[in-house]
Amino acid sequence: MAADQYTFQNPVEMYADIQPSAQHQPEPGLDAKLSPRADLGEVSYRGSGRLAGRRALVTGGDSGIGAAVAIAFAREGADVAISYLPEEEEDAARIVGLIEDAGRTAVALPGDLRDAAYCRQLVADAVAGLGGLDIVVNNGGKQIFNDDLATLSDEQFDDTFKTNVYAMFWITKAALEHLVPGSAIINSTSVQAYSPSDILVDYASTKATINTFTKALAQQLAPKGIRVNAVAPGPIWTPLQVSDGQPQEKVAEFGEDTPLGRMGQPAELAPAYVFLASAESSYVAGETLNVNGGMPTP
Ligand code: NAD
Ligand code: MG
Repeated sequence: MAADQYTFQNPVEMYADIQPSAQHQPEPGLDAKLSPRADLGEVSYRGSGRLAGRRALVTGGDSGIGAAVAIAFAREGADVAISYLPEEEEDAARIVGLIEDAGRTAVALPGDLRDAAYCRQLVADAVAGLGGLDIVVNNGGKQIFNDDLATLSDEQFDDTFKTNVYAMFWITKAALEHLVPGSAIINSTSVQAYSPSDILVDYASTKATINTFTKALAQQLAPKGIRVNAVAPGPIWTPLQVSDGQPQEKVAEFGEDTPLGRMGQPAELAPAYVFLASAESSYVAGETLNVNGGMPTP
């Protein structure tokens, strides 16, 4: 079966033969070590000029959903800066190569999103490297499962909020000095914002915050011609999940409880981000686009 977003096919059967076994990587996980490899759309994604001449910053653009978004944006005609942790250089270098293969400029900006000074510098460096900025995708994120609040450390609680929430605030605030009318901000939230798992108390709380931040800020910025939206993925096959995002034994059945009966691939997320970044979504602001295998959302 063709694994692409263009062939008319049964979405239940698509990617259904992918059966990962239990596996573990230290945080942050690498796409290069994921087994089987995730589909980032590197073979399949076809652009049609929807982001011609645009300039995008994608945090966590080295792997998973962010990497699929970076590839799609480049093939739609955008120059793309990606942020990632220094340990993820191998994944990042591959995505930089794919952006350049699309004939676009790639800017690689490693650093730690928990650091406010880095977040501000990241925006400044993206603006310098791209010659401006009109798309910001706050996608980098931390997810470490914990099944007992008594053992959820202050450090983890702080790190999860810094990475998922504070970085979005610092980056968005710095970016606003550069974003012109027509620009788009897209935040990666999660189905966890509405249907939190008992083992993801800190993570799910950050995702609800991201959703509400998006809806509040969207109203503030819409009159200025800047649209803010979110994408809420369901269970997607990425290195986040195998680096303690889930217990190892849950990895093998990941996504089987969704109506489509399977986990999603990063390639299935990219079109949602392209839509929200492009002028096609000119009347869409404050929206959360759920890409979750059919799970009901509010
Ligand atoms: P991923 O591991 O491929 O991407 C997450 C990225 O976050 C990493 O590549 C890393 O570069 C970045 N990151 C983490 N901590 C960082 C730090 N301290 N400093 C700098 N960068 C840091 O996994 P993914 O699943 O593609 O995650 C992307 C986004 O999608 C996250 O916000 C995640 O919460 C969200 N999401 C994922 C799923 C899923 O099932 N995979 C579901 C819902 C939401
Ligand atoms: Mg990564």
